[in-house]
Amino acid sequence: MRRLPHPSIYDLDHDTVATAIDDATAARVYRQLYRERRRSSDDLARTRAATGTADAAPLRRLGVTQGRMSTKYLFGLADGGAIESVRIRRRTGMTACVSSQVGCAFGCTFCASGRLGLQRHLRAGEIVQQVLELGPRINRIVFMGIGEPLHNYEQVLAAIRILRDRRGLGLKTSGITISTIGIPRRLRQLREEHLKLNLTISLHASTDEVRRALIPGARGVRLAQVIEASQSWAHRHNRTVTYVYLLLPGINDAPADARRITRLLEGAKARINLMRWNPVLGGDTYQRVDDRSLARFRAALHHGGLDVTVRDTQGKDIDAACGQLWLRDLRPDP
Ligand code: SF4
Repeated sequence: MRRLPHPSIYDLDHDTVATAIDDATAARVYRQLYRERRRSSDDLARTRAATGTADAAPLRRLGVTQGRMSTKYLFGLADGGAIESVRIRRRTGMTACVSSQVGCAFGCTFCASGRLGLQRHLRAGEIVQQVLELGPRINRIVFMGIGEPLHNYEQVLAAIRILRDRRGLGLKTSGITISTIGIPRRLRQLREEHLKLNLTISLHASTDEVRRALIPGARGVRLAQVIEASQSWAHRHNRTVTYVYLLLPGINDAPADARRITRLLEGAKARINLMRWNPVLGGDTYQRVDDRSLARFRAALHHGGLDVTVRDTQGKDIDAACGQLWLRDLRPDP
């Protein structure tokens, strides 16, 4: 795995700047970076010198693809890698769907992002700059781009702390969602953070065997452990966990799957989002579930007492829906 690049000014939390220089400079630096969105000033230059951070910004915009409701951005990294982010328009603002790693180690069979494995984690500043580059109207952030955010726990949490700092962007943590396959050890760590985030867990199976086949990188983790750790987080923070279930015909859509899911989540602080599969590069691996089967599965969960919603991901028109990022633009030359 490649090493993290040299830190940039976007990696600095307010206290670090205040310690390196003084409180007044830190306040100005945060205002200039995050409210005025400046790239250069005497204060920024002084901060870079005092903290030994890189002169250049960590991301370079390489491309923009405009869709109906979403805009996909391709960013080049200082070490030659690349990532994608998506801006999604809503009635009340914009959502930034950000990447947390270059590639992904978990290799989900329905996702483009993991096909070349994990190249490296992103630095906090590389995550923060994605949000800045996506524009001033961003008021929600979802960690649903490339990478598994809890696999890059320290940098993702550092980015969230910078993004929520009221002296800078001041984004509400209730508008930030971590979407994860569920790493129990990290979920227990997240439970202890004083952050009122939203948590989405990719479930996708009702048995450990099917889940291992769909998410090879999570083979050492049992479904019961994922649910136990995520529910422990939910109770500690009095939140509901969203469990995402990608319906794949003939694989995880049988009546017995619905019964097992109902049993697994009985009494849990849970909501289920059922999703259809989006074709990825080179992929006719799976079929898209038809409306009748989807309705049947939904009804079975609903009768089991679960709160179920069918979600269609935004961005299919520009290959920016869940599981489609990255490979289309960045596959190696033949
Ligand atoms: S779905 Fe998420 S965890 Fe799975 S390979 Fe894609 S980015 Fe990684």
